[in-house]
Amino acid sequence: MNKRTLKELPDASIRGRRVLVRVDFNVPIDDGRVADDTRIAAALPTLRYLLDRDARIVLVSHLGRPGGKPDPAQSLRVVSVRLGELLGRPVRFAEDVVGPSARTAVDALRPGEIVMLENVRFETGEESDDPALGEALAAFGDVYVNDAFGTAHRAHASTSAAPRAMRAAGRPAVAGFLVEKELRFLGSALASPVRPFVAILGGAKISGKIDVVESLLPRVDALLIGGAMANTFFRAMGLETGRSLVEPDRVEMARELIGRAGKRLILPGDCVTATEARAGETKHTQARNRVPADQRILDIGPESVKLFASHVESAGTVIWNGPMGLFEIADFAAGTRGVAEAVARATKNGATTVVGGGDTAAAVEQAGLADAVTHVSTGGGASLEFLEGKVLPGIAVLDD
Ligand code: ADP
Ligand code: MG
Repeated sequence: MNKRTLKELPDASIRGRRVLVRVDFNVPIDDGRVADDTRIAAALPTLRYLLDRDARIVLVSHLGRPGGKPDPAQSLRVVSVRLGELLGRPVRFAEDVVGPSARTAVDALRPGEIVMLENVRFETGEESDDPALGEALAAFGDVYVNDAFGTAHRAHASTSAAPRAMRAAGRPAVAGFLVEKELRFLGSALASPVRPFVAILGGAKISGKIDVVESLLPRVDALLIGGAMANTFFRAMGLETGRSLVEPDRVEMARELIGRAGKRLILPGDCVTATEARAGETKHTQARNRVPADQRILDIGPESVKLFASHVESAGTVIWNGPMGLFEIADFAAGTRGVAEAVARATKNGATTVVGGGDTAAAVEQAGLADAVTHVSTGGGASLEFLEGKVLPGIAVLDD
């Protein structure tokens, strides 16, 4: 997707102008405080660039799922405070989305100032992509910037109707730096990967990722499958999976995939098992054909880490989505950490490595390796849909 970016806009169309920026500040709130500000930090390059050019910034985001009506527990006010701390300058806050408070605040904005609108999902029209809400939001800006990659797979009023209204009025609608970066890394990995191209898939369920498998299979040189996803393949191979997480209704599909993928599909050869998915359980490492009927597979084993690492370390491009085990429990985190270390080594050797998925990103973060890979995608669902080869409506709508 070749989309116009913020950097391509002449300074004259930014300086002193009102810039409506859709950000993804859907951050975890704990006890009335922002518990993790990664997503806020990810938008800072775009905001600083605009502030350096004396833009008047109007920020739009959602938070949680208030379902089209105001809910004080899901107010963005605390987020505006955290943003102000990160930017080192005040951020005004509007008590509504397109109501009197927002209009007054936007009218009062001076060059170099920021106002954050209240949670856009307090409006019924947001999730239904209501053109009237889109028009009302568009009226707040001379330029529209989408820097909310995490919601780019949703056609909502703030990601779809608003930029459509802007473009209809002859105003620019462009991609911010974060969206540009996501498109560059995810896009080039898919469109023109340096080979060998290796994909690693894991996580809990194969059902949620089957479209990713289908999209990646014809493109990759090797597809490594770990996590609970692998269990369904083990079952398809006729192996005992004990009390592991298996999706019985996907076994047939897994069997078909094994046949179709041939040597490109790489499954773990050993695994770590325990009776219960709990910390402190006695764990056993065994070959995949020796899983006892009373045990659960909770991680890939050390031989599998070596096998996966050998593929990863010789790759030119790596895409990784889905942990290799129940990494939230330290006893079952070694497989995921081992693969993360291999991905970091591949990066050092010059490979382009992209990590997507909320839990996978958290695991890489937890291993202290987020800076050791080329790119950690901020969009869980959006990066998955991108990998599935789907068109993201929030991106498609922007200027070409
Ligand atoms: P992402 O958010 O990166 O897309 P998923 O949501 O698909 O990843 O999967 C992550 C979840 O899968 C984690 O909660 C992890 O504990 C779980 N998981 C991975 N392997 C296993 C396993 N063998 N048994 C049980 N749960 C697993
Ligand atoms: Mg997840």
